[in-house]
Amino acid sequence: MRIETTAVQALRDHEHGAVVPPIHLASTFELDPATGEGDFAYQRGGNPTRAQLETVLAALDGAAHGFAFATGMAATAAVFSLLRTGDEVILPASVYGGTYRFVDQLFEARGLTGRFVPDLADLTADDFTPATRMVFVETPANPTLRVTDLRRIAALAHAAGALVVVDNTFMTPVLQRPLELGADIAVQSATKYLAGHSDLLAGAVTTNSDEIAASMTLAQKALGGVLSPFDSYRLIQDIKTLPLRIARQQSSAQAIAAHLAEHDAVGRVLLPGSLSADEARIQESQAAGPGAIISFELADGVDRVAFLRALRLPVYAVSLGGVESLICHPATMTHEAMSPQARADAGISDELLRLSVGIEHVDDLIADLDQAFAAAR
Ligand SMILES: *Cc1c(COP(=O)(O)O)cnc(C)c1O
Repeated sequence: MRIETTAVQALRDHEHGAVVPPIHLASTFELDPATGEGDFAYQRGGNPTRAQLETVLAALDGAAHGFAFATGMAATAAVFSLLRTGDEVILPASVYGGTYRFVDQLFEARGLTGRFVPDLADLTADDFTPATRMVFVETPANPTLRVTDLRRIAALAHAAGALVVVDNTFMTPVLQRPLELGADIAVQSATKYLAGHSDLLAGAVTTNSDEIAASMTLAQKALGGVLSPFDSYRLIQDIKTLPLRIARQQSSAQAIAAHLAEHDAVGRVLLPGSLSADEARIQESQAAGPGAIISFELADGVDRVAFLRALRLPVYAVSLGGVESLICHPATMTHEAMSPQARADAGISDELLRLSVGIEHVDDLIADLDQAFAAAR
């Protein structure tokens, strides 16, 4: 089945023939007094609605196991619960701000080391030590949209006995399936494209490893950051239109990027693969498209604040992936926690803007950008 079909038809065992699953709200479930067992026991450990969503999440990634968490960070925290005292994780310097905060502020007290590298493309076997237990990758990177070769990282990491975790939030399984490219674990902030309507927080983890799956089950029970039945139901419904939304958002983003590249109010325009022919080739070989995030710089003489104030359609806000276009300023918003030097090293200039293209008509978005450029001169 293609992913458009899986997104809609992954669940076919609905009670009473209902075409959408019921929402089971029970916090606790009746058990057999003789064995103490039942299909479900207590909602944190598992419940029928979350289990349905987890089936969908696994199906989208072609994975053996799927897990739903209350937020993307709860999903990442569950993945980091695999680490033991003394372990080291290699991450890109541009990693998502919440992940950066976790590593920066919580690793040391847990006896863990996070090693930030400026560019995962430069990673070699020499970068791995006996303590390296995990490489945590985001590709394309945020907001530079640099591309990392997942097959190459997987080969390097596995040769060194380390796990590969991919935060696939920007691509989603519609465009990129990390487990098929050699990753051990895929994590997503389902808050973004999967939910798609900017009204729900959720996280997803998928894996083919039974051992990792057992640890994720433990993380759900022991750390407790699980998704509620209501939100599990809403995510099941939202995912049905995910492939359609991504297709529209991506085609609009390509048209907008082409327009920006020609516009004299715009400096650099960044897209996955735009940095080099090599990255373009990698993106092409591991993803079905570039996605719908564009980063760009304004040309000299165009006032950033005036431009952002003049925009009528893209909302000035953090986050991405929703049906409404959003624009943000990474240096003061998403990547504010990094030092100016660290930002410069990661290629995030003070003039860079990040646009998450929504499903509005592309001509309206382009017209709005143009009138805001004119107003900002
Ligand atoms: C938003 C985001 C997260 C965190 O997800 P939450 O649902 O906000 O906890 C993790 N990774 C990436 C790439 C994100 O964009």
